[in-house]
Amino acid sequence: MINYQEQAKKCLCCTKHVPLPTLLKEYNEITLCPTTFTNVMEYKRIWESLGSKPTGSIRKHFSEYVQKIVEASLTSKDV
Ligand SMILES: [Zn+2]
Repeated sequence: MINYQEQAKKCLCCTKHVPLPTLLKEYNEITLCPTTFTNVMEYKRIWESLGSKPTGSIRKHFSEYVQKIVEASLTSKDV
């Protein structure tokens, strides 16, 4: 049986707000809530379309948490 609250705490952005999400996604072996997951996918898409790290004017729309996850996944795979 899944304990939704315990699961949701794995997404660091969710530790600070209620209600916690009941549906969770996974990216690069990191558990994320749907909101953060969507932002991660969007930030990654922008990064890949630019071919390099987005500038500050783009980055400001994404949380540091999202940026860190994408940066780690892109630099570790060395694509
Ligand atoms: Zn979250």
